[in-house]
Amino acid sequence: MVLIIALSYNAVRKQFIAMQITDLRDLNASLSVSLLSVIDLRNNDLDQLTKSLGSEIQARITVVDTIGKVLADSESDPLTMKNHRRRPEIEQALSGNIAHARRFSTTVEKNMLYVASPLVKNGQIVAVVRTSIYLSHLNNLFHQIINRIVKISLLVIIVALSAAFLLARRYSKPINQLVSAARQIEQGKLETRVNIHTNDELDELAESFNAMTAELNRLLTDFARQRDELQTIVSAVPSGLLVLNAAGRVAFYNREFQKIATQKEIQDKYYWEILRQPQFTEFIKGIQENRSNRTQEIGIDDKTYLCSATADTTGGEIVLIFSDISELKAVQRLKRDFVVNVSHELRTPLTAIKGFVETLQEESAGDEHRYLTIIARHTERLINIVNDLLTLSELEEKNQIEYEPVDLGDLLPDTVKIFEEHLQAKNLAIEIETDSPLIVRADPFKLQQVLINLLDNAIKYTEKGKVTVKAHQVGNEVQITIADTGCGIPAEHLSRIFERFYVVDKSRSRQLGGTGLGLAIAKHIVLLHNGHLAVESQPEKGTIFKIILPCVNKKTSESYS
Ligand code: ADP
Repeated sequence: MVLIIALSYNAVRKQFIAMQITDLRDLNASLSVSLLSVIDLRNNDLDQLTKSLGSEIQARITVVDTIGKVLADSESDPLTMKNHRRRPEIEQALSGNIAHARRFSTTVEKNMLYVASPLVKNGQIVAVVRTSIYLSHLNNLFHQIINRIVKISLLVIIVALSAAFLLARRYSKPINQLVSAARQIEQGKLETRVNIHTNDELDELAESFNAMTAELNRLLTDFARQRDELQTIVSAVPSGLLVLNAAGRVAFYNREFQKIATQKEIQDKYYWEILRQPQFTEFIKGIQENRSNRTQEIGIDDKTYLCSATADTTGGEIVLIFSDISELKAVQRLKRDFVVNVSHELRTPLTAIKGFVETLQEESAGDEHRYLTIIARHTERLINIVNDLLTLSELEEKNQIEYEPVDLGDLLPDTVKIFEEHLQAKNLAIEIETDSPLIVRADPFKLQQVLINLLDNAIKYTEKGKVTVKAHQVGNEVQITIADTGCGIPAEHLSRIFERFYVVDKSRSRQLGGTGLGLAIAKHIVLLHNGHLAVESQPEKGTIFKIILPCVNKKTSESYS
């Protein structure tokens, strides 16, 4: 409003003066009738009329003749007044126009606003009537108006401010309430609620706020309960639990793991600080590089742990579970020792029995010879079992492979040679197909043992047809296949034939001198070579055993050769 007043002050003042000019023009017009009626009479009459009219209308009236002589004036004696011909408004009025001027009056010595109009009688200008008002008077009037406007404006401002203040208070109170409630929630006081009833959007906001807080409270309670449950479960787990973040630092661990760790403070430490085991460090590095899940036995102090690692591919975390298998290992060792001892103890008497039975067989005939043959066959089988058990125990004990480059181009024909007699006896054909040289990194004796076991089975369980042995490099792997055209293995047995002592047809296997350990030994050896042993079979059509071994890279094979 102040701005409006300040900017429009001049315009209003101009308009006000223009209005005054119009008023004076109208006044001139209305005065002209009475003045024209006395203009021909004596100057005195005109002057008196002018003075009486002037006292009534609060404006100065001056009548000037055509040569500029003042004929009458409502506030001065015309005789004392100078010639007005050169006054601009008079000059213009004499030329027939209604004119106005603002200037200082030498007669009354004040600033005045003049409006002069020609007095026309019978079509001729006979004089000029000029009305004027004091500018100070005009200014006073104007200022009175402005004053009033300012007062009204102030009143409006006060009323507007009070209304604004009341409205602001109405809105700021609930908003303040919301703000302080939000602060309390920030401090964890989730039971805080706001109480606002304004019947407008704030009311809705408060309702949503309360609902949101209630939901938050519920979620957090749920979350805390789940966390507690998880904490209870995790601490109750009898295995050590360790979570490493992407940088390899400890993010989480349970009580059981604290017992395994070599340090007391382990949170945020690097994995190699908390378990100073090269084996463990290598294990974690491998997982970090390949982001694959792995399981490995790790010896810590005098205990053995089975460490299973799950790598989270998104967050880069690794979850490790340490299960104490020391007792299991001890039992395994006991069992192995027992098997080895028993096998060793049995081997000598069995060999002696075999020797004596063979001697007796030479001197026997008829039923006696038949019984001795049966005894010899069973003794042979027992010796086979004892030997196979010893082989398995040995493999388990060492659990290690002495690698060297092996050329399958030589090894396969050499091994097949061992079975020449068997093949001929059963009238079976043999086919060898291999890249030569085809180098694999393996333990030659152990790999030959696998081939012997598989070839032995292929010949044992095939009555007619042929046995095919192939070895080729396929991508990064070397594949050795031993296929036969024998009796095959029914599908339901395929998943179990690698188990120890598992035989598909007991009487047949026994008759053929089988032990049920051949495939178990073969599988064990292939696994030790980080390889894979697979089987495909169709009953009455044949069986294919496939040994898959990781390939030796060129550099290594060159360095070997
Ligand atoms: P075994 O000493 O009895 O041959 P293995 O462990 O070598 O024991 O084989 C387990 C079982 O798998 C055998 O009893 C036999 O039933 C089956 N089997 C293995 N190889 C073959 C094959 N080439 N053809 C058919 N059956 C086979």
